[in-house]
Amino acid sequence: MTIDLHELALHAIDAAADELGLPDRIRAVLHQPERSLAVQVPYRTDDGATRIVPGFRVAHSTARGPAKGGTRFHPDVTAAEVDGLATLMSVKTAVVDLPLGGGKGVVTVDPKQLSEPELESLTRSYTRAIADSIGPSVDVPAPDVNTGQRHMDWMADEYSRVTGRHQPGVVTGKSLAAGGSLGRDTATAAGCRTVVHAGARRLGLDPDARVVIQGFGNAGAHLARLLTGDGMRVVGVSDSRGGVHDPAGLDIDAVAAAKADHASVIAADGEVVDSDELLALDCDVLVPAALEGAIDTAQAERVRARLIAEAANGPVTSEADRILVERGVTVVPDVLASAGGVIVSCFEWQQNQHQERWSAQHVAERLEDRMCRALDDLWAVASSRELDLRTAAMVLGVGRIAAAIEQRHTDPVTPAELAS
Ligand code: NAD
Repeated sequence: MTIDLHELALHAIDAAADELGLPDRIRAVLHQPERSLAVQVPYRTDDGATRIVPGFRVAHSTARGPAKGGTRFHPDVTAAEVDGLATLMSVKTAVVDLPLGGGKGVVTVDPKQLSEPELESLTRSYTRAIADSIGPSVDVPAPDVNTGQRHMDWMADEYSRVTGRHQPGVVTGKSLAAGGSLGRDTATAAGCRTVVHAGARRLGLDPDARVVIQGFGNAGAHLARLLTGDGMRVVGVSDSRGGVHDPAGLDIDAVAAAKADHASVIAADGEVVDSDELLALDCDVLVPAALEGAIDTAQAERVRARLIAEAANGPVTSEADRILVERGVTVVPDVLASAGGVIVSCFEWQQNQHQERWSAQHVAERLEDRMCRALDDLWAVASSRELDLRTAAMVLGVGRIAAAIEQRHTDPVTPAELAS
């Protein structure tokens, strides 16, 4: 993660605004977060002391609905980065046409240094500090780097205590017992699976297309299982210690067992390859599902896949992206290929709002339907405007946010008139 993520986001928004011919007043709205809150987060340490760390919650846009975005616990996140992440969330929710905007929250702390009671104290304190700015119809946090189900359960509980009302829809990514949704844990992989199949069909790949997946965590491991079950051949997977390759197709259950027993996929049967070799393996589909910036210019030159589905956030650098486009590689960008998680987060929020519990099958069907419609929309924009898919996604998302801003800003009093 770099400090100029916000600049990168604004640059991408401006490029989309140029393509759409948006007026300056809409660009000005898109450039600034609607709400930006900086808070102190005091928490109780195990030795009875109180420590204070900074926290932020940013709502970039609520033009299409309540802000939506993760909560990150990390020692090195800057305020500008939070703005950038919140901005990209607005685009992501718009690309998949959810009735939501974009937001992001951060607590600048290293959670690995904290005990469980300290983490709970910190999470509850953060929730109290931002309670006036969040809510089921205002801004709905979710998990992100270093936060998960138990943090969301604490946040939902603390918010209900503060407001005196049971409001599980204030956050998503909760446990089932606390009002979470079935299918949330596999949502990102399931969404990416739809992208891989749609891309494979468009490119005329064989049903047993060869897939390489970088990263064997929540997104990557579930995806490997799903695609293998669909008849595709997962010929390479990797984790932070390296990769394993079998041109005939890996036995994914055996790879998962090897990872569980020996902490890495490299203990599984197959040829061991390093990270760079994995990205250059002979395959049809490449899915980066690990790190930001994983594919740089040198790797982009060596990629042999015809289709890349970005399950990870920002796995391809801007320069690498240009090379891939020039080489004719189809890249389905992260705002769509990794959107399964936020889509099922939206379903969780909708279930909470209506006190419903959807079946796993209902969640899966609605997720697939939402992804397919977004893919159709994306390909339509790309072909009518002759754009690569990443630019087309920005045009699609920014266009939808701009239309909502236009529709809501009908008050004839301009900011200049108000100031006079
Ligand atoms: P995770 O922590 O569960 O798994 C990450 C995996 O990447 C691990 O297997 C890790 O060993 C591997 N890895 C780390 N460094 C690597 C390296 N240098 N080379 C190869 N592999 C490496 O994380 P996750 O939840 O699966 O998320 C992965 C990516 O997907 C992230 O970019 C995340 O932002 C994105 N994403 C995840 C979700 C979700 O719901 N899980 C939603 C949207 C986007």
